[in-house]
Amino acid sequence: MHPVELIERKRNGEEIGAAELREFVAAYARDELPDYQAAALLMAVWFRGLSSAETYALTEAMVASGDTVELAARLGRRVVDKHSTGGVGDKTTLALGPVVAACGAPFGKMSGRGLGHTGGTLDKLESIPGFRVELTTEELIRQVTEIGLAVAGQTADLVPADRKLYALRDVTATIDEVSLIAASIMSKKIAGGASALVLDVKVGEGAFMHRQEDARRLAQAMRGLGEEAGMDVVCLLTDMEQPLGRAVGNALEVHEAYETLAGGGPADFRELVVVAATQLLALSDLELDEDAARARVTASLSDGSALAAYERWIRAQGGNPDPAVLPSAPVVRQVPAPQDGFVRAVRAREVAAAAMRLGAGRERKGDSVDHAVGVVCGAKHGDRVERGEALAEIHARDDASAKAAEATLLTAYEIGDEPEPRPLVLDVLR
Ligand code: URA
Repeated sequence: MHPVELIERKRNGEEIGAAELREFVAAYARDELPDYQAAALLMAVWFRGLSSAETYALTEAMVASGDTVELAARLGRRVVDKHSTGGVGDKTTLALGPVVAACGAPFGKMSGRGLGHTGGTLDKLESIPGFRVELTTEELIRQVTEIGLAVAGQTADLVPADRKLYALRDVTATIDEVSLIAASIMSKKIAGGASALVLDVKVGEGAFMHRQEDARRLAQAMRGLGEEAGMDVVCLLTDMEQPLGRAVGNALEVHEAYETLAGGGPADFRELVVVAATQLLALSDLELDEDAARARVTASLSDGSALAAYERWIRAQGGNPDPAVLPSAPVVRQVPAPQDGFVRAVRAREVAAAAMRLGAGRERKGDSVDHAVGVVCGAKHGDRVERGEALAEIHARDDASAKAAEATLLTAYEIGDEPEPRPLVLDVLR
């Protein structure tokens, strides 16, 4: 394999052989190729794209760069997993894991931290006093065996090539290419050892993919990679023009997930949990069709079994599941509606920017986050509001950050004539 020649061929739009691509990725992962050659190849891929065969070769090479977890083989059962491409207020795993476990399917998942405008499941979980996100692979497997549910940080040895390539993509403007995103996400899912996967591909201003056709291309690329690796994959395309649910901010989102598991919670969040859990159960080894799966899921939310699974899970990882012990912010301030009318938009990016201003997220890897702060969007798309009524609530560390967040939040809301209703689930690709 000659790196310069390979880069040149991709630059000219030629197809690269699987073996060469594998060799390139393996050499880069072992620090035997410099960043500048990997960066040049990434940029050539950004302009020229990858064929399905090339994307699969890249994914395989990334999986092969580190350890794999034989979760399904170790448990002797089909294991289901879910992944979201990232959005604002996306606390789905916190409620979905307990629902799926309560319904009898094992759920073992490796999650990430938040970067930029989207939050990360690990940060949300770390707002729970005592909760431990660092589990060894053996601990993760033991916990899934014993209580049916574990969520942990990804180990350093899982897909190290993605870690290096992702960091390079981040600083070379090559993140937003469908094949590269698909290979990055699916390499981690394949290495994680699940048998079936529900992918929640977010669409809208608050997501990576702003347009439905791009989200569909990404979903199809990921589904193709999963199927080549022997994994059953269902993709949901879901709306990310506005935040999911009402809460944006770590402890606030844990609180909202708890309320949902207790049978309440915002309608859109509950709908996504039910739809995703139904698909996961239908893919599991429980032999349920979609109607039976949905009935079991909704029962778990009303009979207390999903909440009990949540409490077992949080205790198993050292945390206190009582929502009363979650950190709370000292300053709570309402944002009044500037006029009468209907909410036409709650722009997810601006809500995320307000939460960032409060300290809920991180700009750079390694920044610390304030778990207590955030925003609760009381009014959502289509709601009628009167002038002076609270649109949203800000949870802040101090008055100055609350004021800055309020100004940003007011740009998130558009009030006017009644809008057309917008569905949350835009499509399901099976
Ligand atoms: N999430 C990932 O893990 N990788 C990407 O490339 C984009 C989102």
